[in-house]
Order: sequence, then C-alpha cells, then structure tokens
Amino acid sequence: MRLTCDVDVVNRLLPSHNLKKSGRSCHSQLSIGKKTGIQNKDGTVYLMICTVKDRNGTKFALRDNVEQIFGRFICEGKATIRIKDPPKDLCLSKGDPLQLKSFLNLVKVGAQGKDLGKVTLSSLSIPSAKKVEKPKTKLVILNRRDYPMTTNFPSSLEQLQVSKCSVKRVDSRILQLKHLQVLNLSENCLKELPDLMENLKNLRELNLSVNQLSHFPMVLCKPKLAEALSVLDISHNELTVLPPHLCLLRHLVHLKLDHNKLITLPVTIGRLSQLKFLTASHNELQCLPASFLRLQLESLDMFCNPFSAEEQTPSQDNVEFPTLMEITARAIKAKRLLYDEESLHGHLCQYLDSARTCWCGGYCFQCATRYVQKMDMCRISPNVTSVDLFGRKEAPVESYLCSQKCLQRFRSNPYAYWRK
Ligand SMILES: [Zn+2]
Repeated sequence: MRLTCDVDVVNRLLPSHNLKKSGRSCHSQLSIGKKTGIQNKDGTVYLMICTVKDRNGTKFALRDNVEQIFGRFICEGKATIRIKDPPKDLCLSKGDPLQLKSFLNLVKVGAQGKDLGKVTLSSLSIPSAKKVEKPKTKLVILNRRDYPMTTNFPSSLEQLQVSKCSVKRVDSRILQLKHLQVLNLSENCLKELPDLMENLKNLRELNLSVNQLSHFPMVLCKPKLAEALSVLDISHNELTVLPPHLCLLRHLVHLKLDHNKLITLPVTIGRLSQLKFLTASHNELQCLPASFLRLQLESLDMFCNPFSAEEQTPSQDNVEFPTLMEITARAIKAKRLLYDEESLHGHLCQYLDSARTCWCGGYCFQCATRYVQKMDMCRISPNVTSVDLFGRKEAPVESYLCSQKCLQRFRSNPYAYWRK
C-alpha cells in the first residue's frame, strides 16, 4: 500500500525544549510493509516515508506504536498520525481523499497488530527518484530545441508556455493536459485552433498573441471553455471581425485585441459584464457599437484607431414599415427563443445574429435608423488612454432606433437615452 502526498514530520518534544518546528511539508511517498530477507524474521509492519532528500526513507514501527489518528479533514486530503516512539506527528496534506482513507485504515489495523495477511503490503524498497519528485506544474519552452519530441508533457502541468517554436498547430498532447490553467502559445505560426481545445476545461488564461489567426477561434465560445476563460490575449494577429458569440465568454475579465485589423467590435460586447480591462489599440475601428457604453471597465486603451465615422442624425426614411420577416425575427429575439443551424437555415441564423438593439431595449434589423454621436470614453472607465496623439478621449458610437415612436422620443430629447 502506497500513498503520495505532502508530509510534515513534527517532533512533539521541540516545544518543551523551547524550539520551533521548521514547518515545511515535503512531497513524499508513504508505504506500509515489512522488511525483506533476513530482517523480516519478526514480521514487524512498518510505515516508511521517502522524500527526494531521503530516498532511503524513515521507518516507523506500527504495532502498538500509534497513539492517535486525526482524520477530521480526510475529505480535504489532510490527516495527522501521532506516533508514540519516537514522539513525532506525521502531518499529511494534499493527498487524494479516497486513497488517504484506505491508507489510514491500514495504519489502524497495523497498529492494532492484527493479521495483515490478506492485504498486499509494499516491499519497503527504495523508490525511484521520479516517484518522490514533486510533480511538475509549470513548464516554459522558448526554443524549438527544447520542445519535447519523444517524451510526453508532464500530466500534472498547470502552466505551460510554448513560444518562439514556429508551432503551426496545437499539439494533441497539450490537449490532454487536464489540469492546465494557463496556456501561453504566443509568438508562433498558429492559423487556427483545434476543436478538441474544448477539453481544457480548467483553462483560465490563454495567450495567442503574435500568431497568424485571421478568424476568431470559435472553439473558445464552446460552453466548457467559455465558462472558464478569464484572460484572453489575441493581440498581434490578423483578425478583421469578432463574432457576436464573443459575449458567451461571460467570465472574461481581461481582453487584449491590440494590433489586429478589426473594423468593428461585435454589437454584443456590452454583455461582457465581468470585463474590467480592454485594450484594442492599433486596429481599424471607425466607430463603436452602442452596447459598448454598457461596459464598466477599470482601464481602456483604444489608441491609434481611425475613428473616422462622422456624426449622423437619425432620419425618418427607414423606420416606416418593418417586413414580415423582420417582425418575426424581432419576436424571436424578444422572447429569447433558442435557435441554431439545426433548427433554422444558416442564413436565417446569421440574420438573427445581426440584430441591433434600440435604446428602448427592443431589437431591430433593416427597419431601423442609424445615428452616430461622439461619446466621451471616460463614461465607462476612469483610466482611458487617449484615442489619438492630440489627447482626445472621445469616439463615435453607432446607435439604432427601431420605430417612429423611438425616433420621436430621441428628437424631443437627444441625450436623454444616454443617461443611466
Ligand atoms: Zn426602440
């Protein structure tokens, strides 16, 4: 029986000598077994603790030698075994709760001196260095020569960086790393991401900067991944548009879009309610969607965008009569009916996705009048980088009005809608 966890061996006599314990846990392998060969005459069962520094291990006889087992926090992977002689406490932590439970049961049986004939005991041999080494959680590869070709990535990895390796596609071995939380694939030659990327359901931070992505990778909007991601860096790519599905990344806090070729931002961007840091400098943005003003950011950088859209007042021409298709589509959006390409024709889905929001909260499509107003970006963030070298902090915002009624309300008081 073996168990891998962190162990802190505390000498109980230290406080009585006015000394403090070191208090450092060591990644260890614990085994319960009997000594082999001639030493096995008495058949004593031992508990052995092996660490990287002490691979030969420290052995504690079990029979009548365990004063108490503290197992209140087994479900958190923690427990303490109090040994009588020598007077030491073995504080176990970071163990697998199930394995820890069965291990402690065996310790109990061993301490009572009962027959362990039916249980498979370990041989108390010296473990290999690999077994007592702390599992690797972080790996940085900044050179193609260091890229593992014949070996696997350690399955315990939580942070992985593979940069400057001219990677063209994401290695399928990376997609197997179930514990991965931070993945940095910057400065490579990625043009797309594989669908299996969805398997990385613990991924919190993804860095795809300085690659060759010309389309936003839709796999990031799949439920498992979209729910997990909080930091996304997709700067220095070749993106021209972002899909409306971007709003599915509901827990996104930090979004970097700098140095792309974005002409516009998705009309749904205002739904990223957790977003606090947004940078979209050096793009081709001419104006912003109205929902942009719903964001509440801590910092915003839109430096070096053309923002050339002229101010435009709404006209009466377009809001006369909506078509039957538009009335239906408005109802589908208003009732939040679910649709996908299995239930509706693809072009109808695209049509529904192109919905614009009027300031009254209603949805509109072609039957809407557009107007553009310059808005101060300080409204949505206390820290705004100026949009140009002249220090201006205003940008044109494009809005739509869905009906004659909304147009009348707008005309009677053009700024009323902007108030929160
Ligand atoms: Zn309206």
